[in-house]
Order: sequence, then structure tokens, then C-alpha cells
Amino acid sequence: MLHTPHTPHAPASRPRARTRRRLRAAALLASAVSVSLVAASAPPAPLGVGDRLFPYLGNPGYDVAAYDLSFTYSGSNSKPLKAVTTIDARTTAGLDRVNLDFAHGKVESVEVDGEPADFATAGEDLVVTPGKPLDEGEWTRITVRHSSDPVYPGDRQGGWVRTADGLAMANQADVAHLVFPCNDHPSDKARFTIRVTAPDGLTAVANGLPTAVDRAGGSTTWTYRTAHPMATELAQVSIGRSTVLHRTGPHGLPVRDVVPTKHRAALEPWLKKTPAQIAWMEGKAGRYPFETYGVLMADATTGFELETQTLSLFERELFSDPDYPRWYIESIMVHELSHQWFGNSVSPHSWSDLWLNEGHATWYEALYAEEKADRPMEARMEAAYGASDRWRTEGGPPAAPEPPKKGSRTGIFRANVYDGAALVLYALRQEIGAPAFERLEREWAARHRDRTATTADFVRLASEVAGRDLGGFLEGWLYGKKTPPMPGHPDWKPTAADKAPPAPRGKARGE
Ligand SMILES: [Zn+2]
Repeated sequence: MLHTPHTPHAPASRPRARTRRRLRAAALLASAVSVSLVAASAPPAPLGVGDRLFPYLGNPGYDVAAYDLSFTYSGSNSKPLKAVTTIDARTTAGLDRVNLDFAHGKVESVEVDGEPADFATAGEDLVVTPGKPLDEGEWTRITVRHSSDPVYPGDRQGGWVRTADGLAMANQADVAHLVFPCNDHPSDKARFTIRVTAPDGLTAVANGLPTAVDRAGGSTTWTYRTAHPMATELAQVSIGRSTVLHRTGPHGLPVRDVVPTKHRAALEPWLKKTPAQIAWMEGKAGRYPFETYGVLMADATTGFELETQTLSLFERELFSDPDYPRWYIESIMVHELSHQWFGNSVSPHSWSDLWLNEGHATWYEALYAEEKADRPMEARMEAAYGASDRWRTEGGPPAAPEPPKKGSRTGIFRANVYDGAALVLYALRQEIGAPAFERLEREWAARHRDRTATTADFVRLASEVAGRDLGGFLEGWLYGKKTPPMPGHPDWKPTAADKAPPAPRGKARGE
């Protein structure tokens, strides 16, 4: 995700293959909370996988392999969609009940393995009680018929984003379960099939590639499937008066962009930049990790851009506002693109690992600006160094961020995990040299492809690539209350708030 600056005319209030390894990880998480897996007679209770920042996200006792999501759109984005969510999961513990994360939709019925099951709501969990308990190590299929409501009470945010002509999706970090029942934590990735039925005249697009288009009786059903596992927070469904534009990226990669039909011509100069940006990223991080890429231009005022898997979400306004320099817009496109490697293909094992997403995306955003628009990385990092102690005080150190504040629109997406974390990568490059750093980046994306990874995994790989233990060096950079001295720049010092230069992009980020 990237918060983008306010524009002068904007309202002031607008913030700018399942593997053994994963099964083991899920089992470990399950055992950590096994005391919570209580007998069926106790009242239903919300559970979580123990994420320090979002304690009630995710659920123990099972590992989802596949989601099949089916949405029926009425043509109005203020009416609930009819939905059927089917989850194929393998149990990692014996379960009397299965907790799913789901809030903000009406549940009509639940089936477990084809048999009707009882269900109840507890906190933001949908607690399902099958007719007979599930054994450990069994496959199970849970089918939930429910509504999915794109209108949220008060100033509660997303997953659905209402656009001028339909809907888009922005689930990061913790709102996929306001759209569909799921195990809403990035440690449980799964394959997705997404089906959308919409009235003729509208176009639906989702993550992955299309597998079917069926037209019948005034409506069309569009089916998409992902070839790689994906976290719930990265799901995307676009419904609108859209045109899908096709072009070809490196090695014949299918690139498809989704744009409001009436803005197609104005957006083309930007869209045609994507193939060269993918080639540039491949030069830095290795082969593009998915089956397709593209940009979804939403006619909506979101205040952020989001790296939804294979189809990044952008607000159209970003590309039509003359206040944004061209180099800046291009660097933001690269920010979301680079997340496909850093954050999506390699996804965080817990939300405390968010710096691995945003630090890398900020890094490539800045590197692209340096190489293509002569905006020196060093100047940006010196400014970040000046602010870093303040960012750590406000939001915690990069790898141990503070929990989100209630009602905050920025949540955990603070400067400490953007430029504050890119600064950690800069310090590491200063310490081990550019050739080792570049090897590390490529090896990271290759070794953890399609999986989740932790901060400890990164420290371990950095040490392996550098040929020496970097645990001590990185400890202070990742977890220190104060920013350590910058290797090679002993003159860099924290800057007092009132003497600080402007942030890299004006008042970016919505800190
Ligand atoms: Zn980002």
C-alpha cells in the first residue's frame, strides 16, 4: 500500500502450492493457541493466530488450500452482493468448531462437507459447528452462502471500494473478512477462483487469468483463477464500465490493464510504461513471479494505491492531477509493481514483518527515481536518517511497529515501515556493498517465492550471502529505539522536527 499526498482540491479530511513448510507453520501456530480450542459446549469465541498487531486475525486448526468466491452484482454499488464462498482446507488439529473470519455480511447457510452446519457470530468470527467433529489431517469443504455489503458504517474502511461505475477491492491489512469468510491472515495463502455475475454492459476482472465468460439472460459470469497462492489481503475484484487492454511484457508475459472506458485514451501514455518497468524490476529482483500483471485504474478517491496480486489498484486521479511530477507517478507505479515480488510472492509471516513489504517497495521506488529521473537515493536517505528517530518514537522501530490506533486510517502504514525501512536496506547495502546486496535481493525473491517469510529469515539470508553474521548489525536497525550510526556517513544526524526538510514527497504517507 502507499498513501499518496493530498491534492490541493482534495477535502482536508482525506488521508492521503501448499507446502509441507506451510503446514508445519500452521501446526505450530495451532499448537500455540490449542488451549483455545474448547469443547463444543462452551460459547463460541473469536480466535486468532496470535498476530501481535491484529490478535483476532486468522484462525488456528486448519490451512486453507483454495477459495472459490462467487459474487452476484445487482448493478448498484450500494446494495449487498449475493455471494457463495467455498473453502477447501486441511485440518491441522482436531476441531469441534471451525472459526472463520467474517463480519459485515449476512450468513444464510453453512455446509461442511455437504452437510448443513450450525453457525454463530463471535466478535468478527463466524464460528461453524459441523454435525460431527473434524479429525486432524483431514480435508474439509466449507460452503457459506452470504451477502457481501459494500456499504460500511461510519468511517469504517473497506474491503469493497465504491467507484464511480462499480466496485474495486482493497483488503489490506485486515478487512478481507468484511467481504468474504476466510482465514484472514497472510500466513495462510491459498489459490483463488473468483466468479462474478454482473448485468451486461459491465466488465468484471479479478486476480489471475480468465478461465471462462458465460453470457445468459442479460448478465455475464466472469471466472478468474490464480496460478499462485495468494493472501486474502491481496484479492482484487473490479466491476465497472471498464475496458481491458492487453499488451505483452518481458518473455511474452500477458499484461492486462483495467481502465474506465471513458478515460482509456488519457491513461494510455501511463499504461504503456508497464512492460519496461517490469523489465527494469526483473533486472533487480529476478523473473516476475506471477502469470500476469496490470494496472487497475479505479474512478475513486481512495488516498492510497494497493498492490493487489497481479492487478495493482490505483486511483485514476493520481494520473490526471497536474500537481504530480511525471517521475513521481512513475516511481509510484514501480512501488506497487515491486510489491509483486516483495509482499505478494514473498508475503509477511506476520504483520510485524510489514517492513519487508514497504521497505523494499520504497527502495525500488527510490532507486527507479534515481536511475530514471536523477533523484539521488543518498539525498532521500539522508533526509530519512534525519527523521528516523522521530518515526521510531511515533510508530515503533521498523520490525516491531506499534499496534494500529483505533479509528486511525493509516493503521500500521506509517513512515517507519516506508522510508524508515528503506533506510535499513540502505544501511545494509552500505555495510555489505552493492554486489552482495543485489545478490541478496534476488536470492530472497527466489528462495521464498510463493511462500511467507519472517524478518529472521531475512537476517539469516543476509548473513549467508554476506558470508558473516549480520544479526548484531541488523538488530539495532530493525528493533532499536534509536537509529544506529550510518556506515560510511558518520556525519548523518537526527534532525529536530522544526528543522526537518520536507518529507521526500511533500506531505506524503499520511503519517
Ligand atoms: Zn507499498
